[in-house]
Amino acid sequence: MSGCFASARTRRYIEGKERIDAKAFKACITDFGSKFTFNSDKYPNQFTISKHDDYAAIAWFESAKYPLFPVPLIWDNTRYPRLIFICPCCELKRLYLYGVPNGWACRHCIGLHYSVQSMGTEERLRKRIRKIRRNIWGNDASMDTFEMSYPFGKPKGVRFDKFNNEVQLLNSLEVRYLRLAEKRFLTLDVKISKLAAKVFG
Ligand SMILES: [Zn+2]
Repeated sequence: MSGCFASARTRRYIEGKERIDAKAFKACITDFGSKFTFNSDKYPNQFTISKHDDYAAIAWFESAKYPLFPVPLIWDNTRYPRLIFICPCCELKRLYLYGVPNGWACRHCIGLHYSVQSMGTEERLRKRIRKIRRNIWGNDASMDTFEMSYPFGKPKGVRFDKFNNEVQLLNSLEVRYLRLAEKRFLTLDVKISKLAAKVFG
C-alpha cells in the first residue's frame, strides 16, 4: 500500500511541475527569427526559432541570468509525423520538457523520476525537506524543493519558537539541497554548451 501512495505522490508532483509540450511549437516552428513568449514566472519563457540543417528547428530560450539555451525540435518518422523535442541534456527524443533555472530538460535529466535505486544525497535531502514541510503545513506544503521555506503560515496550536526552529532547520537543508542541485546544473551546462557549439556549427 505504501508503494501505491508513494507513486501517486510522485505523479502529483510531476503534474504540478511546469512543462512545455513539443506539439505546442507546431504553430511557430517555421517562424524563423521571431520571438515568442509564453506564461511562466519561474523558468525561461522567451524563445526565438532558428533554422538548422539537422533539426526541424532550434528554439533558443532567453533568461536574464544565463546564456542562451538551445532546445532542438524534430519531426519523428511515423506515418503521421509528430513534432518532438531533443532533450538538450541527454539528447533523447522527448514529448515534454520540464523547467530548470536556465532552460528546459527532460524529467530524467532533472531528476523528476524517483526510484528507490537512486537514493543519492540530493534525493534524500529532497525527501527530508518534503517530509518536514508536510509535517508543518500538511496539504498546503509546497513540494517544490527549488523554493525556500519562509516562516509564514504558522499552523494553529504550534508554538512560535518550535515553528521557527523547524523552518530554520528546513532552510539549512534547502540551502544544502540547492547547492547540490546547482552543481548538477553546472554539469548539465557543460553538455549544453557542447550542444550549442554543435548547433552553431
Ligand atoms: Zn534528458
